[in-house]
Amino acid sequence: MLMEGSRERIVAYGKRVASEGLAVGTSGNLSEFDPKMGLMAISPSGVGYFDTNPEDVVVMRLDGTIVEGERRPSSEAPLHAQTYRCRPNARAVVHTHSPFATTLAALGQPIRAVHFTIADAGTDVVPLSPYVTFGTPELAESVGKTLAENPKTQAVLMESHGLIACGASMDDAFTLAVNLEFVARVQWQAECVGKPRVLTPSEMGSVAERFSTYGQDASK
Ligand code: 13P
Ligand code: ZN
Repeated sequence: MLMEGSRERIVAYGKRVASEGLAVGTSGNLSEFDPKMGLMAISPSGVGYFDTNPEDVVVMRLDGTIVEGERRPSSEAPLHAQTYRCRPNARAVVHTHSPFATTLAALGQPIRAVHFTIADAGTDVVPLSPYVTFGTPELAESVGKTLAENPKTQAVLMESHGLIACGASMDDAFTLAVNLEFVARVQWQAECVGKPRVLTPSEMGSVAERFSTYGQDASK
């Protein structure tokens, strides 16, 4: 089976997406990309996360050609492919309909720096791309445009839809989706009772500096 490790991670992290409440039912999807092979492994369309097995994951080229797999790939395969084209360092993409990020998407609001952990997205604002029907090449094109216009961001909020997050690994993309759900929740809750304070670019600069030495030393 091609991309066996990726298939297993897509199944395992799909279960985490569901159990963390980042997507309901069969909404959302996950993928990994191997640039050497030029292949993307992606979750099957419309299959529940707890019903998905590694053999259900579809392996395809970014142009949509299926290389291995019996299932129909996620309807958002063009969106994932476009994200890999726009972010050459990305190796995984996670798309969610997480409730608070989707609330902001429904309000037509980007995710702002109401909490410093937005820094995980590589940016002070997670941009909003305009509403386009799900699962269409037009949505992929529109999100690709937003990624091109915002070269630092590792995530985009899709208006009236949900979030797409990418990373150097599946764990990075998943963790970013979880962190952004927290920031979106804080933003929405704060807006319910007042006007949230948004961190300034200078404050976010200090956060980035602090994060550069945060956590454990990987070389030890
Ligand atoms: P798939 O089940 O085809 O992956 O679609 C779910 C989704 O979230 C569409 O945007
Ligand atoms: Zn979706």
